[in-house]
Amino acid sequence: MTIGEALKRGETELANAGVPEPRLDAELLLSGILGEPRLTLCLNRDQALDDAAGHAYLSRIARRAKREPLQYIEGETEFMGFPFSVTGDVLIPRPDTEILCEAAIERLPRGGRVFDLGTGSGALAVSIAKLRPDADIWAGDLSEKALDVARQNAKKNGANVHFVLGDCLEPVWHLRYDMIVSNPPYISEAERPSLAPELSSEPAMALFDGADGLTFYRRITREAPGCLNPGGTLLFEIGWQQAEPVSALLETYIGTPFRIKDYGGNWRVCGATLRAVSDQGME
Ligand code: GLN
Repeated sequence: MTIGEALKRGETELANAGVPEPRLDAELLLSGILGEPRLTLCLNRDQALDDAAGHAYLSRIARRAKREPLQYIEGETEFMGFPFSVTGDVLIPRPDTEILCEAAIERLPRGGRVFDLGTGSGALAVSIAKLRPDADIWAGDLSEKALDVARQNAKKNGANVHFVLGDCLEPVWHLRYDMIVSNPPYISEAERPSLAPELSSEPAMALFDGADGLTFYRRITREAPGCLNPGGTLLFEIGWQQAEPVSALLETYIGTPFRIKDYGGNWRVCGATLRAVSDQGME
């Protein structure tokens, strides 16, 4: 099988499976196996693939045809320009979440301490650690397997992060932070039937709250004041329909809310700075 034949066959199999960009994915999978850029493949279409590479390629095409995400098949993805290992135990870091990362980096005071609640692959915590070496970075997750992946990613990138196992803020209840960032599970049960098949490969606990999508925003906004320093900031990633309800929660429990859009024009980040106690009324 030549490179050109392999790409044609891969593209056809992926197209038949309804994969949205069959040609691109076939090229990416083959270029990953050969360790060559995509352009090189196109320039060497008549070159024969050896048996081992041909087998590896076709087995990856078969996985992708079952709608397994490309990132799990390759075992790695990029976030904020840094490499991250990903397994089925962690959510695949999304480009949209880079908006949250940038907002955190911008707003974190010098030498500040930050907690990444529900770190998953560690994408947020590790990237903040790399881009803000002055800061003291903590990250927690309820999944021990996710924490293993996050620790591996901190090591891979030479980032210094304190990892803790536990539910939301429970493992750090005795500590105070200048910032809490979180990309919690926020897809509602109502949205489940309309999702891309790829999402069924990702850990359900990282995507769904089993209810209206707001469960974690309610809980975290209520609990965060106990772990924030005066003037500390709570920053969330949100779903495209959640800016209003999450802003209302922030207004009630934290302080005046702000919002940031993603490149698609949807509200993607919502946050607030903890208002001083004297502003909170005398109830
Ligand atoms: N942004 C993800 C998606 O829509 C959801 C991530 C999450 O629930 N935190 O696929």
